[in-house]
Amino acid sequence: LASRMKKTATEVIKTLLKNGVMATINQTIDFDTAEFVATEMGCKVEREVVVTIEERLIDDHQDTEDELVPRSPVVVVMGHVDHGKTSLLDAVRKTNVVSGEAGGITQHIGAYTVEINGKPITFLDTPGHAAFTSMRARGAMCTDIAILVVAADDGIMPQTVEAINHAKAANIPIIVAVNKMDKHGANAENIKQELTKYDLIPEEWGGDTIVCPISAKTGMGIDQLLEMVILTAEMQELKANPNRAAKGTVIEARLDKNRGPIATLLVQNGTLHKGDLIIAGTAVGRVRVMTDDKGRAIQSAGPSIPVEITGLAETPTPGDEFDAVADERMARQLVEQRKQAEKDAAAKQASKVTLDNLFAKMQEGEMKELNLIVKADVQGSAEAVRASLEKLSNEEVRVRVIHAGVGAINESDILLASTANAIVVGFNVRPDAAAQASAQRANVDIRMYRVIYDAIDEIEAAMKGMLAPKY
Ligand code: GDP
Repeated sequence: LASRMKKTATEVIKTLLKNGVMATINQTIDFDTAEFVATEMGCKVEREVVVTIEERLIDDHQDTEDELVPRSPVVVVMGHVDHGKTSLLDAVRKTNVVSGEAGGITQHIGAYTVEINGKPITFLDTPGHAAFTSMRARGAMCTDIAILVVAADDGIMPQTVEAINHAKAANIPIIVAVNKMDKHGANAENIKQELTKYDLIPEEWGGDTIVCPISAKTGMGIDQLLEMVILTAEMQELKANPNRAAKGTVIEARLDKNRGPIATLLVQNGTLHKGDLIIAGTAVGRVRVMTDDKGRAIQSAGPSIPVEITGLAETPTPGDEFDAVADERMARQLVEQRKQAEKDAAAKQASKVTLDNLFAKMQEGEMKELNLIVKADVQGSAEAVRASLEKLSNEEVRVRVIHAGVGAINESDILLASTANAIVVGFNVRPDAAAQASAQRANVDIRMYRVIYDAIDEIEAAMKGMLAPKY
């Protein structure tokens, strides 16, 4: 608001305080307050309601209870390396072939559907929580149940714990598969005991965690495991509305020399039809060929069904959300907007703070904290400098010395500065050659001084936008 009015944040905050609104620099104020303050400060205010292309293009219809029908669960398999995730996914896939489904062999498209007692379950075919986590990091929530594979002969290992935490963070139920039960001396009871340490209390001990002993090698226990998946899914009452524009998540994507971009999509709501116009992340196009996980061409796919499609102009990124949309011109506009937003975000990432741009960044409201790394020739001056610099904090920006040390400015100082977006301040010390090179690469500002007062003066001036330009 301050920058739109060409005033300082302090002036705006003063006006707010004068009118009884206690506000800090990083607080959000509503339109009425903003209008009041702006008018008070002699600005003309107009209310503008912005409807984004995204909002106009993408169907955000809230499904009503009578539109919703049950859908099948989507399952991810997680666990420590070598505990048998891939083997389990293979064994499950085989179960299905035995059941004699027409079409037979499953293709690897990144997800597949099996049926147990006539009820379908969709498995994400990428074991490990790395894929799961990167999707979640991108905001994609496409799994309903996690199967946690724990090898009976190895027990709970670091990645098992990670998997537990990821599933818990995503708030999805965990079914534990104690694998390798065919091995001599394998004992599921020890695993159950270990699980209790992570708040996974087995059902037979009064908790609500289902634990299934299995062998991915012999196939023992796989059917029971799948039945437990169905049972868990039924308790979740998973539902979707097949009669709306499709939306879901990109599971896999690659570029084929002959067929162009190929993407595996998991439909999460609505129904995807051949010929639909879709927008997936920054890719747009019409579904040209759509095949299921058995390699059969299909015309439409409803909720929880994974399909492989061609027709996108570009290769999307796994974890991207996709939406079927109606207006091609708007879809292309939205794609351009998203590309620009990605570029802006990348540029912002690249634009490190320097004493020269500090004030501008403060004005834009980007800087609430100025991080500094102090290196000096003796411990005494490092500490003295730290104290004096931190005293420069004012209500607009807090000066924080994140590291103060003795000796030449080295590469690890630069690395820290780069990740923490800090400026390096040297006292009677210089960067070594490696540090100089990496500072240049990472755009880290290094300032060197001989006298403490010079450093304080210069940084203070920079914070006020009064730093004399360097030639
Ligand atoms: P992932 O890293 O979790 O995907 O583990 P894999 O599925 O690749 O399995 C790791 C190793 O354990 C492989 O050598 C498998 O053959 C073996 N393995 C997997 N499941 C079983 C099982 O039920 N019994 C036995 N004896 N070995 C298994």
